Amino acid sequence: MDGRKKQMGSMEFYWTGHPFVDAGLAAILLITGKNKPEQLTEKDIEKAIEFASGLYATKEWSSSYLLGMIFPNNGILMANPSMSKKRSPKAIAENLWSILREFKISNKNSAKCVLCGRTPAYTKKEVYRSVFPLLGTGGVPNFFHSANIRGADICAHCLFLTQFMPLASYRLSRVLVMHAYPYELMLELSKEAFKDIKKSKLASQGRGFKRPENFLFHLVGEITRKIERDDVWENASITLYYFICNNQNQILDVIHVPTPVLRFIAYANLVDRNGWKHIISMGWEKAPKEEQFEEFERKYPNRVYTRLLNYESIISYFYNLKERRVNTSWNLLAFYCKEVIGVDKEALDFIKDVGNRIVETVEKLPDNKLGDEVRSLERAEKLYQFEAFFIRVEKLRQNLGIETPLMTFDEFVRILTAYGEDINISWKSVRNLLLFCIYEKLHDRLIKTAKSEEISEVGIEEEKEYAIYGGGE
Ligand SMILES: [Zn+2]
Repeated sequence: MDGRKKQMGSMEFYWTGHPFVDAGLAAILLITGKNKPEQLTEKDIEKAIEFASGLYATKEWSSSYLLGMIFPNNGILMANPSMSKKRSPKAIAENLWSILREFKISNKNSAKCVLCGRTPAYTKKEVYRSVFPLLGTGGVPNFFHSANIRGADICAHCLFLTQFMPLASYRLSRVLVMHAYPYELMLELSKEAFKDIKKSKLASQGRGFKRPENFLFHLVGEITRKIERDDVWENASITLYYFICNNQNQILDVIHVPTPVLRFIAYANLVDRNGWKHIISMGWEKAPKEEQFEEFERKYPNRVYTRLLNYESIISYFYNLKERRVNTSWNLLAFYCKEVIGVDKEALDFIKDVGNRIVETVEKLPDNKLGDEVRSLERAEKLYQFEAFFIRVEKLRQNLGIETPLMTFDEFVRILTAYGEDINISWKSVRNLLLFCIYEKLHDRLIKTAKSEEISEVGIEEEKEYAIYGGGE
């Protein structure tokens, strides 16, 4: 035991913050069933090398996946057509061991690793695109800003781990690495990739998801429902790296998922899963039938997801304007406004209160008049139209003999002017929140009177936008 410990002393593994290196470490932990890098023993590393080299020597991995999408002509993993005769699990394992041996050699003269900053760069062989995805090739040495013609200054530790990255990645249209902090979360999100690989000996296709963000949001919901808590996302940080690296193409999309968005998605899955599904359904051009939902989720880009990732408001997706119906409860909408948009509780309570007073007024109208009033709010596209709506409701209150005014003068000023276009919540968002309150209370009556063809799409104020993250095919 002591002997092994001594040997492992110079073979210490650690998280680096670099997605490819960390994905490799995650893969080794998953292969060995360990949770933390400091628990890894030499036996574990042996097991991981054996597992990886066995797979990497197969044709499916070598000449298709590794060569075509991740490591073009990788000499270490022998994903190079010219090596097909020599390629064997044993030969690949030997190459991996040879990098490991470099852990112990510390060349004081070489530069520190640019990824982990801990150990000197590996200098035994060049570090180009073939062994570390998305770098330059040896043909363009000026790619490397350190002016190192031997490639990037990456240490043996980081280079070694990167060779395992494919085992914790998903093969969608491109390769997907889910980099997450805390690292337990990264293990959780990569678990399925390894499970599939172990079972089928092929790269995991992430259940057939074509879009990285759809897959992630699906997993977040699933994990949250499984553990029945949403606090794991409290300080979580997730970034998706969606790339392809071969001799013709090097493409990378970096999709950072804001923490408030993660928390909101987790909460939505926990408190109102069906409502959340209704919201997502509105993010597709044509809403899917219940049984089509999963297929849509796997295949098509979704505007709700794209807007969330781009810090754009999704308030208008909380209700269905055509059917004058809410998709979820005020509770979830309030959580979204507070956590994601940053509206304070006082402002929300105020808007809700005004919404209730509007409802209390217009509900006294006969059906056809009620429909007209609500339509005028739905169609308010300019601030003066929004303003006119309140004045009309105020007059209605007087005519109907309601004693208290709709709003005080101060409140009126506040609702019209306190919410500009640039701060967190614009007057249009206020209008959308008010519509939500009205639909929530008066849907049954409104739908009776609604001539749906008359209702224009005023609530959805956005350009027709599709995927920002294109597929790699
Ligand atoms: Zn390093």
